[in-house]
Amino acid sequence: MREARLQLQDHSIESLRARFAEQGIEPWRAEQVAGWLYGRGIGDPAQWSDLPAALRERFAAEWEWHALDWDLVQRSADGTVKGRLRARDGALVESVLIPEGARTTLCISTQVGCPLACSFCATGALGFTRNLTVAEIVDQVCRMREQLVPGQRLTNVVYMGMGEPLLNLPAVLESARLLLHPKGFALGPRKVTVSTAGVVPKIATLLASVPVNLAVSLHAATDAVRDELVPLNRRFPLAALMGALRSLETVTARRPVFFEYTLIQGVNDAPEDARRLARLLRGLPSKLNVIPMNAHEDSPHRPPSEAVLTRFAGDLVRLGFTVTVRRPRGADIDAACGQLAGRGAQPAVASRV
Ligand code: SAH
Repeated sequence: MREARLQLQDHSIESLRARFAEQGIEPWRAEQVAGWLYGRGIGDPAQWSDLPAALRERFAAEWEWHALDWDLVQRSADGTVKGRLRARDGALVESVLIPEGARTTLCISTQVGCPLACSFCATGALGFTRNLTVAEIVDQVCRMREQLVPGQRLTNVVYMGMGEPLLNLPAVLESARLLLHPKGFALGPRKVTVSTAGVVPKIATLLASVPVNLAVSLHAATDAVRDELVPLNRRFPLAALMGALRSLETVTARRPVFFEYTLIQGVNDAPEDARRLARLLRGLPSKLNVIPMNAHEDSPHRPPSEAVLTRFAGDLVRLGFTVTVRRPRGADIDAACGQLAGRGAQPAVASRV
């Protein structure tokens, strides 16, 4: 049987150098290959014109340069693009490209499904299938870049798609290194954000390993409410989570913790909830992202009224916090926060590729 081909995107540039050396290829070819694949976004070795023809043929024969194939692309009326990509085993992986002014943010997934079962999240309702490989995380960036329109450039990457990044930490770290590497995607450290529901023992490792922004999905300021919304809270309650965050040396006013707070009607949207949240976060450099709940069929929860949303955010601003309200993007194609569940749409709004 023919040996399985090596997956280029599973390798850091350093490990690619070592691999090449073992195969009798000059190690510096690793940077050259990364320049084509990540820098210029050209995956096919046949087009790597500054490589000798024999080497191009060898790459094409021995290596794979994509881990994901297109399954479905959906474009929202607001410019958001959701990609559904198929892994070699048939697993479906979703990513969302979100243009916002000069910035274009890509939201990527780290697992197929998610084991955390947060009560308001559609991905949680799917259950967990498996972790994504490094190449499957990185290839979401390569593939989704193919959807950029002329003049548009990818500026930010957020690990906020399907799955819990800190439960797939080794692959998340390797992928983030490729995003930040000057010969990789060369994104600036403030341009990459990893979000966690609060896997406390892994947070310090993440920040000690890669200079990314940390986002924490908080959603509640009491254990009673958070236990219901984020079952992981029963293992790592608020005191443990906040204690860990307060002890991080990398957290400063210039590098605050981003807190996501999904506002849910009648659950965590009372004036008292805003005051408790303020007390919980007091003194920790932070930015608060309030996300009105995106409704979907797997959850009984509903968004708050516009008046309640404005009051909640306003209360926290008055209490001295930096608050942004994250408006739902791509809700018409199930691409908004918490809606990623592998759903397709009618062919009228979707293009199969
Ligand atoms: N598991 C990680 C990464 C996913 S990030 C984490 O929890 O941080 C996805 C974000 O969308 C999380 O903040 C999540 O809580 C939020 N979210 C999930 N379902 C949502 C919904 N229905 N409406 C709004 N936000 C939601």
